[in-house]
Amino acid sequence: MKCSICLYCGSHSGTNPAFAADAAALGQAVAARGWRLVYGGGNVGLMGVAARAAVAVGGQVIGVIPRALLEREQGYTEVSELIITETLRERKALMFERSDAFVTLPGGFGTLEETVETLTLRQLRYHNKPIYLLDTAGFFQPLLQFFEHARASGFIHPDHFHLFTVTRSVPELMELLERGA
Ligand code: AMP
Repeated sequence: MKCSICLYCGSHSGTNPAFAADAAALGQAVAARGWRLVYGGGNVGLMGVAARAAVAVGGQVIGVIPRALLEREQGYTEVSELIITETLRERKALMFERSDAFVTLPGGFGTLEETVETLTLRQLRYHNKPIYLLDTAGFFQPLLQFFEHARASGFIHPDHFHLFTVTRSVPELMELLERGA
């Protein structure tokens, strides 16, 4: 296995069909390269869209889901491996350990929480794995404006903007992942 991609994204599909289109394109593109998709194990929202798209083309998909969320997030059993954890923290730790790079698609609090924790851990040099935000339809612009506001207010060091990369499309993202950039 060349590469293992951790996907953070919404447990809803959002209002813009472009979100699901990109989630499906990402799942397919990761599988097409023979890479592994590691994700939250659910069959809901963008999580389900990306996982189903990867499975549909024979991709290797690992789902990691806490027992308590099996019902709410409809644990997706068609994956190569569905790991059931006891806690959310275990889920996040396993997703982290099993991955070489992180990709965030649009999502809500859960998606933000996972992404910002991964960013913070990189900032503190607990790891040096690349982190990408896929800015489908400009979804992340308000968050990036907030990061800029935090920088201007003296809370985020300008150097720390190199901790993540914003990409506009799935093909651009795949190219960056291939180059390890
Ligand atoms: P959301 O972006 O709120 O739709 O959540 C996306 C995914 O993140 C869902 O599968 C949530 O269960 C998951 N999630 C939320 N908080 C955490 C957390 N603290 N650790 C791990 N996963 C989480």
